[in-house]
Amino acid sequence: MRRRTRGKIVRRCPQCRSTRLVFEGGLILGQLFHCLDCDYVGPLVIEEEEPVSSSSRPA
Ligand SMILES: [Zn+2]
Repeated sequence: MRRRTRGKIVRRCPQCRSTRLVFEGGLILGQLFHCLDCDYVGPLVIEEEEPVSSSSRPA
C-alpha cells in the first residue's frame, strides 16, 4: 500500500547512515551524493520519510 508522503524525506548514507549528504550534481551517470562523514560518493542513498513530530510544535 502506498501512502501519500506527508513527512520530510531525509537522505541517508548507505555506508554510515549519516544524513550529512550533499548533492554533487548530475552528470551523464545521473545524480551523485557525497557523504560528509565517510566520504562516500555515489548515486545510491537511503531515502527515508521523517515523520512530522508533534512534540516540537512552534509555539
Ligand atoms: Zn557516510
